[in-house]
Amino acid sequence: MKQINVTRSSMPPFEEYVEKIKKLWDTRWLSNCGEYHEQLEKKLEEYLQVPNVSLFSNGHLSLYTAINALDLQGEVITTPFTFVSTTHAIVQNGLTPVFCDIKPNDYTIDADKIEALITDKTSAIVAVHVYGNVCDVEKIEKIAKKHNLKVIYDAAHAFGVKYKGIGIGNFGDISMMSFHATKVFHTIEGGALLYKDHDLKKKLASLRNFGLTSQEECEYTAMNAKMNEFQAAMGLCNLLTIDEDILKRKKAVEIYQRELKNIPGITCWQKQDNVEANYIYFPIVIDEKEYGLSRDQLFELLKSYNINSRKYFYPLVTDFKCYQKYKSYTPIADDLAKKVLTLPLYSDLETADILKICDIIRSKKGV
Ligand SMILES: *Cc1c(COP(=O)(O)O)cnc(C)c1O
Repeated sequence: MKQINVTRSSMPPFEEYVEKIKKLWDTRWLSNCGEYHEQLEKKLEEYLQVPNVSLFSNGHLSLYTAINALDLQGEVITTPFTFVSTTHAIVQNGLTPVFCDIKPNDYTIDADKIEALITDKTSAIVAVHVYGNVCDVEKIEKIAKKHNLKVIYDAAHAFGVKYKGIGIGNFGDISMMSFHATKVFHTIEGGALLYKDHDLKKKLASLRNFGLTSQEECEYTAMNAKMNEFQAAMGLCNLLTIDEDILKRKKAVEIYQRELKNIPGITCWQKQDNVEANYIYFPIVIDEKEYGLSRDQLFELLKSYNINSRKYFYPLVTDFKCYQKYKSYTPIADDLAKKVLTLPLYSDLETADILKICDIIRSKKGV
């Protein structure tokens, strides 16, 4: 039986990539703000419609660096319904995560529950545009202004997403994007910070390069998190087809939605109003009572056909050993983590495969 994975990396034509990297054998400039690195930053500022983009070796180190750059102290309000990287970046900066519940409709942080968690130690909100769903950016901005908090968005899932026609990187103080191989747009491994404040550019350039500010001075304790030329070259190639890739994902999602619409107990991901989506994931929520199978049973059923779905996100971050001590009352996130399943989705997923997956979900019968 053919194996279908939950994701599959987009690749440019082989010759196109080879042609791009060929030059590096002449220039021998492989990292530290090479030509492709500079080109990609510029092209992404245009594509993502944001004043500044700074590239990094991966998304996690860019998020870590965003928090480091804003000199935060004490407590940070965040979501438990995310990839563990979000929480790591907070804790690795010596800060305490305070977990806020999510909204039942789009799974982003519930802005109405943030203020109750603010103390005199709170310095920031780190929210996640989970599945590319946009957080309540307007409410969060209001709360942040009122309480003098910084706002950082983990926009790892939100490449190319727009809210009311505005590039997602224009909200909050800094947004992070991941260009990991499994994301909508990738540079093999890679990441970026997006921000409006031009003054941050120099500081971030230093913070991704050991905190060095000149050949003879180091001002900050920092990481090595630079994107290299092979990564940037992959990004430049992938950027050529990104609109087409997102359109193909959209078509796949529409087939899923049409096929699964009338199955009792299955709730499909829906695009938010006012949002231009990127169709990065297709999560469904399974109500065991109505559907007849639990999320875990459906996961195993698909697996019996060699179809790999993903319990994304399960377990909740606050159920991991290293973060259990921060667990708080987040009933909606707890419930969702038990019921959510992301189905295979990538730009060249074949229609026949989508129909097969939907047939299995409808029939509930194993091999
Ligand atoms: C992928 C991801 C990250 C980490 O990005 P990397 O590029 O893999 O380091 C962080 N947060 C979320 C929500 C992610 O999905």
